[in-house]
Amino acid sequence: MKTLYTQLPAIDSLLRDPALQPLLMQTGTAFTTRQLRDMQQEARAHIQQHQSLPSWHTNWPEEAQRRIEQQQQSALRPVFNLTGTVLHTNLGRAPLSERAIEAVTACLRQPVTLEYALDDAARGHRDRAVSELLCELTGAEAACIVNNNAAAVLLMLAALAPGREVIVSRGELVEIGGAFRIPDVMRQAGCQLVEVGTTNRTHLKDYRTAISDNTGLLMKVHTSNYQIQGFTHAVSEAELVALAAEHQLPVITDLGSGSLIDMTAFNLPAEPMPQQLIAAGVDLVSFSGDKLMGGPQAGIIVGKQALIDQLQQHPLKRALRVDKMTLAALEATLQLYRQPETLREALPALRLLTRPAHDILQQAERLLPALEHTYGAEYSLAIAACSSQIGSGSLPVERLPSFALTFSPKAGHGSALTALAQRWRALSRPVIGRLQDGKLWLDLRCLEDEAALIRILTS
Ligand SMILES: *Cc1c(COP(=O)(O)O)cnc(C)c1O
Repeated sequence: MKTLYTQLPAIDSLLRDPALQPLLMQTGTAFTTRQLRDMQQEARAHIQQHQSLPSWHTNWPEEAQRRIEQQQQSALRPVFNLTGTVLHTNLGRAPLSERAIEAVTACLRQPVTLEYALDDAARGHRDRAVSELLCELTGAEAACIVNNNAAAVLLMLAALAPGREVIVSRGELVEIGGAFRIPDVMRQAGCQLVEVGTTNRTHLKDYRTAISDNTGLLMKVHTSNYQIQGFTHAVSEAELVALAAEHQLPVITDLGSGSLIDMTAFNLPAEPMPQQLIAAGVDLVSFSGDKLMGGPQAGIIVGKQALIDQLQQHPLKRALRVDKMTLAALEATLQLYRQPETLREALPALRLLTRPAHDILQQAERLLPALEHTYGAEYSLAIAACSSQIGSGSLPVERLPSFALTFSPKAGHGSALTALAQRWRALSRPVIGRLQDGKLWLDLRCLEDEAALIRILTS
């Protein structure tokens, strides 16, 4: 065993090894030395435990290179999203348009007029450019941009109704994934939640009788990630606006996803549009930038000028404001909405959501023979109809007809499936599918770079 220890190379001599020089040039002496020390420690432990040298002992430079490359990999790895969920929160929600990507790159390379008005050299307003576009698209008077829609809701409540009562229907006390719950946000904002109605039915009179001297505002929350069906009744925004006007109270709506275009025109299920609510007289409407809108993560608030001014002046706005990258991406995304004719092509989220099933089927038919060769011995491959979902809590019960390639193991069953999923996760660009009914499914709806997938799955 002693002789095994003496076979371990000294760090000094490793650092002089010509095979290690390219790595040293690339990553520097300090980082490389640390890796070699770790490897040496690991080798010692291996000798102590197994009375043998580790398998990589024959080639230290190569092993060091492999380990360093692994550590240099970004934690944000590009993947193939073949899960069937288009706006997948854990995979970063909406893919951005090329125009938005270019806008972000440009604003990172040079200084930009973020809070600088060129006309009078005075201090400009950070949300200015995006606000104008949002007003044009939604018919609102003003807009305010924050980090995400959760922040938007928090800011609206904290700025407009601190220490006051906020009336919400019991059917709308939503929980969104990641610990966003209306009652909790309400508490954080310093508001007192007043629940009215029942889970399935809330009437205008419920709101009316709940209004008191201490009421700060009336709030509607779009139940974006669930649906109550059957014997139900909800009060429309327009009715609520009329009631609130009698008491000089504002009405705000957390729309969640929201859509700036009529989704049914693209054969997609209907989703409420902020412009409809603005037209109905709602004072403030908030929605996400990276759900159906197809832009960067952001919370967008549109509505009445006087109330937006209150939000802009609130200290929380400073804490929740967005970066120039977000504003650049948001502006470029919103500009695409000025041209509805080309929106489907230009906006990846919409392009993926509207992909016709027959198009996906044809793609599956091209992929099947290409993958059969690599996987056919161990797995039965097939094309199967499936349904994609929109994702990020939007329209949860609606499904989009799609097609998948399915892989079922010829032997080994469950373990062979998990092994395959694991193998795909270890690829240089991991392929993420869905395990279901004893098969691994690759829903092809979100596959745009077909050649790259074939290359990576057959390499
Ligand atoms: C998604 C959603 C939120 C949270 O939005 P984020 O942009 O993810 O912070 C809040 N309210 C509703 C109704 C939602 O659907």
